[in-house]
Amino acid sequence: MLKIILKNGKERSLLNFHPWLFSGAIAKIIGTAEEGAIAQVFDAQQQPLAIGHFYPKGSIAVRLFHFGSDVPRLDTDFWAQKIRRAFELRRTLGLADSSHTTAYRLIHAEGDNLPGLIVDIYGDTAVLQIQTSGMERIKNEIAAALVLVLDTRLQRIYDKENGIYLWQRDPADTHDEGIVTENNLRFYAHWKEGQKTGFFLDQRDNRRLLQSYCAGKTVLNAFSYSGGFSVYALAAGAARVDSVDVSQKAITWANQNVALNGGSERHRGIVADCFEYLRQIHDEYEVIVLDPPAFAKHKSAESKAAQGYKQINLQAFRHIRAGGFLFTFSCSQVITRDLFRKIVFAAAADSKRKVRIVQQLGQSNDHPINIYHPEGDYLKGLVLQVE
Ligand code: SAH
Repeated sequence: MLKIILKNGKERSLLNFHPWLFSGAIAKIIGTAEEGAIAQVFDAQQQPLAIGHFYPKGSIAVRLFHFGSDVPRLDTDFWAQKIRRAFELRRTLGLADSSHTTAYRLIHAEGDNLPGLIVDIYGDTAVLQIQTSGMERIKNEIAAALVLVLDTRLQRIYDKENGIYLWQRDPADTHDEGIVTENNLRFYAHWKEGQKTGFFLDQRDNRRLLQSYCAGKTVLNAFSYSGGFSVYALAAGAARVDSVDVSQKAITWANQNVALNGGSERHRGIVADCFEYLRQIHDEYEVIVLDPPAFAKHKSAESKAAQGYKQINLQAFRHIRAGGFLFTFSCSQVITRDLFRKIVFAAAADSKRKVRIVQQLGQSNDHPINIYHPEGDYLKGLVLQVE
């Protein structure tokens, strides 16, 4: 195992269980420093502190998955124990083994002490999103551990990064999508062809919340993807819902999801750029949802992203019907909660409309945030009333 010795006094973040070790803290590396290799980290006095995956490039040098001075055997049982703990949380949350919701996030990277790994469950399918070379190296052990923990609940494990099935119970299995339920509503999960792992699970609670604002209302779901918010709005009795996305495929899927739940006659799927669409609407919408993709993936793109968020929020404020509600989100990790609120404030001020915050939102609870890793608090949302 690679040995990493820290500079004097640089052990603090590890003692605080922060899952990232920055390269500036390292005094010495002993062994072959290969990307994704397993490394044990020691303080300057050679006391063992933690174990993780090593990355020679970039500022995050080690992503830690084990804290303590012991060196456990990193076998299937070790990973299974972590997955079991994650599964127990989802069971406590009423997600695992539930009949009203069959899609949930089982592993949320740092939030489940497994940096670099996302596992989403769609019924009997587990979809892996592998974000690091360290996780890439051990993906088969992770797959074996998933089978051990989920047992007969599982039929297949799909590796989204590499576009391959890591495991299938039935070798003749040809499922590349499936139907799941979320709060008793039904959706296609397109794990092979869809964005991310196929469906956006982080908005589950916010979609449900939207329902109490929608009865009898005209709703715009901007950046709709497969129509998650639209299906909920229609089920809540919205008079009309328009789903707008730049992707033709997303709109096809939104139409399919609406059809699956009823309400197609009150729904329109529109393929358009939301920046342009929002500019040319009048005051037809009483509820607007803005859930754009992450405009900034890196700190360097922060100010450009801020302009993007400001622009769409400004257009929504200008055009929303008086008394209407705006659900506005940012899923960019580099845009902090505080900054997002300032951007929305600036947009509100430019629109010269009276706006108040009714509710403040985040990601659903199967996306837990490691308290020592505030970067994991990535989804920010505000419910605003525009007078
Ligand atoms: N709200 C959705 C998730 C949205 S993901 C849900 O609950 O499932 C962001 C979506 O924005 C993607 O579907 C992407 O195709 C779309 N998108 C990106 N840029 C866009 C643009 N300029 N105009 C319209 N849609 C866009």
